[in-house]
Amino acid sequence: MAEQRSRKRRASKPKICRLCENKVHHIDFKDVEMLKKFQTEKGRILPRRITGTCLDHQKMLSTAIKRARVLSLVL
Ligand SMILES: [Zn+2]
Repeated sequence: MAEQRSRKRRASKPKICRLCENKVHHIDFKDVEMLKKFQTEKGRILPRRITGTCLDHQKMLSTAIKRARVLSLVL
């Protein structure tokens, strides 16, 4: 009876990069509201496996968030 539970994957979150979808080529670090969507409430950057963001955009995001942090725009 050990293997009764098969690994359930949540199908609720689509793994599509939201930024690719919106054809975002540049992330403005002053766009705080947008950056916050990719952060936890404690100000940590959400990992890609949760947001589904592609590598390129994740790099842009982390750069933007770090810049915004320097200016105290986000946590
Ligand atoms: Zn992307």
